[in-house]
Amino acid sequence: MNAEKRYQIFSRLAAANPEPKTELEYQTPFELLIAVVLSAQSTDKAVNICTRELYKVANTPEAIYALGQAQLEVFINRLGLYRSKAKHIIEACKILVEKYDSIVPANREMLEALPGVGRKTANVILNTIFRQPVMAVDTHIFRLANRTKLAPGKTVREVEDRLVRLIPKDFLIDAHHWLILHGRYVCIARKPKCESCLIEDLCEYPAKPGK
Ligand code: SF4
Repeated sequence: MNAEKRYQIFSRLAAANPEPKTELEYQTPFELLIAVVLSAQSTDKAVNICTRELYKVANTPEAIYALGQAQLEVFINRLGLYRSKAKHIIEACKILVEKYDSIVPANREMLEALPGVGRKTANVILNTIFRQPVMAVDTHIFRLANRTKLAPGKTVREVEDRLVRLIPKDFLIDAHHWLILHGRYVCIARKPKCESCLIEDLCEYPAKPGK
């Protein structure tokens, strides 16, 4: 895909949604961090149902650590992998309290040192909270980057690096949200909605339905 098409794609996504946001509900960087950890293999909707109740009771590293793993599990047991997520979150809260003054760090190495926080989660926090030009590639963005030929790659890291390099700089900060929403609601896995896609004429997917 050429640079002009890439620019057009993001111009249209930006015009359609000038202030894109994550669908995870949060009020503080810590709340977003926990929500993102919980979102692995779970929908944002299911995570929001859990965190709405959890954050009424505990929404700081101290408070969740004090809650303990067993109590935390009660709040999140509708989510997949909830036991390991609870264990990781309690361990991460302990580190945040003891080493980081209970502040979510704006630093990749420090974020990735927290249990349950991998590169993708760190990228979401660095991008959404600290507005850094990084790209968290989830299953939707991976599929979209490959289908459209925006940034094809065999691995998540390959797609991430290509997107960061190829997305026009003016659009990079918000690109994660535009792509994730487009992948979640339009360029869906089973049957992409090409007929109502606002970048249909720019997309290079060879197997568009009806083509
Ligand atoms: S045209 Fe179809 S395949 Fe291409 S981005 Fe839109 S929905 Fe996805």
